[in-house]
Order: sequence, then C-alpha cells, then structure tokens
Amino acid sequence: MAILIIGGLLWSEYHLVFLISLAQLLLINVFLWFIVIRSTFQKEQASVVDLEKFKLAVDNASDHIIITDPDGIIVYANKCAEKITGYPIKEIIGNRPSLWGKQMPKEFYEKLWRIIKEDKIVFTGELKNKRKNGEIYVAEVSISPIFNNNGDVIFFVGIERDITLLKETSDAKTEFVSVASHQLRTPLTSIKWLTELLLKNRENNLNEKQKEALKEINMSNDRIINLINDLLSISKIEEGKFKFLNLTEIEMTRLVNEVVKEFKLIAENRKIDFKALITLPEDYTLNIDEEKIRQAMSNLISNAIKYSKSEGGKVSVSAEVKDDEFVFSVKDNGIGILMKDQRRLFEKFFRADNATLTQTEGTGLGLFIVKSYIEAHGGKIWFESEENKGTTFYFSIKEWFFEAKIYFFDENVL
Ligand code: ADP
Repeated sequence: MAILIIGGLLWSEYHLVFLISLAQLLLINVFLWFIVIRSTFQKEQASVVDLEKFKLAVDNASDHIIITDPDGIIVYANKCAEKITGYPIKEIIGNRPSLWGKQMPKEFYEKLWRIIKEDKIVFTGELKNKRKNGEIYVAEVSISPIFNNNGDVIFFVGIERDITLLKETSDAKTEFVSVASHQLRTPLTSIKWLTELLLKNRENNLNEKQKEALKEINMSNDRIINLINDLLSISKIEEGKFKFLNLTEIEMTRLVNEVVKEFKLIAENRKIDFKALITLPEDYTLNIDEEKIRQAMSNLISNAIKYSKSEGGKVSVSAEVKDDEFVFSVKDNGIGILMKDQRRLFEKFFRADNATLTQTEGTGLGLFIVKSYIEAHGGKIWFESEENKGTTFYFSIKEWFFEAKIYFFDENVL
C-alpha cells in the first residue's frame, strides 16, 4: 500500500514535474515568440519611422525631386517640384516631365533618353523649362537610372535646381567683366598700334636707340594685354563663372582647323615644321563652350611653338575620337619639362627654370586656365615629357557633357 502510495505520489510528482516543465517550456516559448514578434514589430516600426523620416526629408528638400517609371511616367514628386513648376503634385503624378519641359530642341531630349535608357548612366546638364504660368526658367538637372539586381532600370530619379536667378547674376557679372576688360584693352591696343606705326614709318628718321625703345614699349604693352586677358579669365574661373558654360553643338573639324590656321604664320616665322592631323568622323560635333575650348587649344599650340627649338623645331597637332571621347593633342620636340617640375605644371604662376631661361615672356597662367576649362567640360588633361626631347599635351572630352556614375539599387532593401 505504502509502495502504491509512494508510487502514486512519485507518478503524480513525475507528471506534476513534467506538466510544470511543459508549462514552463510553453511559457518560455510564448515569451520568446513575444520577444521575436516584439523585436520584429519594433524593427518594422523603426524602418517605418526611418522611411517616414526619409520621405519627410525628400518631400521637403529644397531641390525639385521626381521619380518616374522606366517609361517616364511620374510616380512621385516632392513639394519643391510643385513650387518650381507651378503644377500641383496631383497634376504632376501620372504625367510626364514634358508637362513643364519641351523647351529644348528635339535632339536634346533624344540624346538625354539615349544616355539614361541605353547607356544607363547619369545625365547632368542645363536646360530650359516652362512653368504653368508660362514663365521660362533655367534648370540644372541630374537624372539617374536606378537598377534592380538584374541590371534592368526600375526607376529614374530626376533632381532639378532652378538656377535662373544665379544665371542672371552671373550673366551680369560677365557683362561687367567684359566691359571692364574692353575699357582696359582699348587704350593698350592704341599704344600697340601707334608704336607699330612709328616703327614702320621711315620718315620718322628714328635712330637705333629710339627704335629699340619703341620695340621695348611695344613688347611690354603686349605683355600687359596678355596679362589682363589671363587675369580676367582667372577671375571668371575663381568666381565659379565657368561653371555656367555657354554650351552649343560645335563642328569640331572646323574649330580645330581654324585654331591651327591662326598659328601657321607664327610657326613659319619661327621656322618650325607645323603639321595637323585631324581624323574626326564627318560632321562630328561636341556640346562645348566654343570660346573656352578654342582658348585651351590655342594655349597648348602657342606653348609648343614657344618652347620649341627655333630651328629644327617640330610641332604636330592631332584631333581624333578614341573610345567615345574627343582627344586633342599637341606634340613638340622642344625643351621638355624636368621631372621635378612636372607635378607643379598646372599651378597658377608656375614657370619652370628651363622655360624662363629660354623664354622670358610668360605669366605661368595659361596651363591653369586650360586645365580649368577642360575640367569644366568634364574632361581630362595630361602630358608626357622628356627634358630636351619634347612634350606632348593631351586633353579629352566626353562626347556628351555628363557625369558617368551608375547607381545600383538593391531590391532587397525595400
Ligand atoms: P607660360 O607659358 O606663360 O609660362 P603656362 O601656364 O602656359 O605659362 O605654362 C606654364 C609652364 O609650363 C611654362 O612656363 C613652362 O615651364 C611649362 N610648359 C608649358 N608648355 C610647355 C611645353 N610645350 N614644353 C615645355 N615646357 C612647357
């Protein structure tokens, strides 16, 4: 009996213990689930909060931001899009950016679409748009394709900044600088013209000393004119003015030929063998600021002639297309650039010792200006040189003025 009682107790105790452990296990499980669910909920809540924060920031950003589907239909627009274009967000969504666009030539939009849809890279540029009230405005635009894991475009993100006012101020400054430079150059040009006239006119009966003095005046005057030109270019660069390039579609063979022609006589006078090899495709155009690229080319050719041997000197210019880039180069067999000077070459006012020895004239500003202009076009400039053997300067510009950046978008982040 006692055994039975003890057995029964043990059995029930065993079951009790078993039941208690089962209940505990269940409780622990429920607790664990609760923790998991709570942390998932908290995580979800946190990501919802993060997403809300992010949306709030984009909604209220000071730049106009839109997201379109791969066909260009707008699926999102922030408040600034409404403010800049004048179209209510409701009207923007479901529409296309052409709602406020269509102010540029057809070819411009064709190129833009080719860049973001086929080349699948970011387009950046300046364009004209029209507000709902009919006002035209200038916008700085960047359009990025966003990809899924397979590399297919799933959205386009367009960011626009209204730069109308900035452009107007910058145009006013440019006008002031150009008027000031004109005012400064006019008297200097008269001095140049008059000294040349005095030197040429035999009836003046100038003695050798007087002629030398006049030549000196003329040369100094030239130096001031060049210095004024360079300083004006630099002041524009430092103002950031060059950021607003006057971009137009330019026929490059014509431009290179014109620049080369300007130097033919100068090279001939210095007995330099001057050649040009232009192998650009027919009707090849680039979207550039013609005056700035012209100045960059002229500067490199002028340096090549200046730092070449006056007899036996050879300068060759080349223009070609390599890997979708326009490449311009100028090769000379002149004094070359010493290794120690090479890294300082694009610094403002830098002139190498071998250059100052052979050529007293020079400001050391030319290459700084060239580099700034090329980089403003998203291009690159570089050189190869060997002392006393010669130098080749190159610059390249992409066929379209844009930033080549690709953003990959991970769908799993969603
Ligand atoms: P500048 O010619 O007025 O001195 P740049 O800015 O055009 O000024 O050139 C800066 C320096 O780079 C020159 O003083 C010279 O030392 C060097 N340089 C430029 N081009 C050449 C060249 N083709 N050959 C040798 N040295 C050069």
